[in-house]
Amino acid sequence: MKLRSSKCFGEVIGVCLTILALFAANSTVAQQSPTSALSDRDAYYPGTEDLAADEMRVTACGTGMPNARPKQAAACFLVELGNGDKFIFDIGTGSMERLTGLAIPFDYLDKVFIGHLHSDHFGDLDALWVGGVISNRQRPLRVWGPNSTKPEYGTAYAVEHMKKMLTWDAASRLGNVNTRGLQIEVTEFDYKGVNQVIYEENGVSIRSFPAIHALDGPVSFTLEWNGLKFAFSSDTYPNKWWMEYAKGADIAIHECFLPPVLLVKKQKWPVPDALNVGTQVHTSPSMFGKVMSLTEPRLAVGYHFFNDFDTTPFVERQIRTTYDGPLALAVDYMVFNITKDDIRVRMASINEDVWPLPSVTAKLPADPSQRVGFTKFLIEGREVFTDVIKKIYDDINEEFGTDEEVPN
Ligand SMILES: [Zn+2]
Ligand SMILES: [Zn+2]
Repeated sequence: MKLRSSKCFGEVIGVCLTILALFAANSTVAQQSPTSALSDRDAYYPGTEDLAADEMRVTACGTGMPNARPKQAAACFLVELGNGDKFIFDIGTGSMERLTGLAIPFDYLDKVFIGHLHSDHFGDLDALWVGGVISNRQRPLRVWGPNSTKPEYGTAYAVEHMKKMLTWDAASRLGNVNTRGLQIEVTEFDYKGVNQVIYEENGVSIRSFPAIHALDGPVSFTLEWNGLKFAFSSDTYPNKWWMEYAKGADIAIHECFLPPVLLVKKQKWPVPDALNVGTQVHTSPSMFGKVMSLTEPRLAVGYHFFNDFDTTPFVERQIRTTYDGPLALAVDYMVFNITKDDIRVRMASINEDVWPLPSVTAKLPADPSQRVGFTKFLIEGREVFTDVIKKIYDDINEEFGTDEEVPN
């Protein structure tokens, strides 16, 4: 039978999944041999499911805070559409690892929309840029992000200086791996644009509108395709633009920041800072609830807090003082399958031993003529194990039918 955790909206998803798992176990034992695969597994195993032509899949690849922790990377959500398109919204620190866990060829992970330039929202752009190349991406990386009140606060400046920071890295790879994927195309747009179209291809429209967070520049996004609407706040204080343009979204993902009391008790912050950051720079859970009462999405998703056994019940109680609609409190690898009729919420189960998938196009070799090379100083310091290396070349040539020679 089909099990839908959407029936459990209004409760904490983790509790729902436990109940559903018990129910599933009881309902399938009598029908199937224990040696057969289950017909319906209530988890998402990356790379094992087709996405229907009219379906949207959203995967939480970072739901935490600027404080790094193994359980939750910083902000990142992947949107996959039934037409084959994929879009990354924010790429916070640690999220590249989560994206890799989804076993998607990196040629498809080439479009990133950055809501603002806090490191917990774009800190893994360097990892996607360089790591994507090493993991076989042969396409340029395309980045969309806002400007600000000064050029140096804008996305183009940030990306240009990220490239400068990685000057040695990029130079060191020339001639050793194919570097076509090191190209970056940046589209910087006006952060004041109200519901402006910043991307329109293949039936997909992505719009931005201003967010109010920390400094001028941040934006929120909507993505519309095939009658479905995804809304993503990045970080923002509640504002009129979100209320108008995220209204009625099928899935509305909005920050639901760690409540001030937990910033004081768990994170050891001074009370004035906790109140300021928790309620003026960010949206606290009860404020998130109010936002969602006015947004009225099919599913409200809160993120941007440490989602633990001892925080989630408190956060949910705060939300429920102002909102009684469908709710999920995101943790990393929570997966949402959205159609016009249904929203299914599950957890992904990933292969921690995952390897990079091949390029979509034939993998191009490096061009050795591009190598920068070493100085004489280092060349003369090499201990060359000629016989050992020759055996490596011989074995490879025999296994793959090649004719590579050991360089002098
Ligand atoms: Zn921020
Ligand atoms: Zn943030």
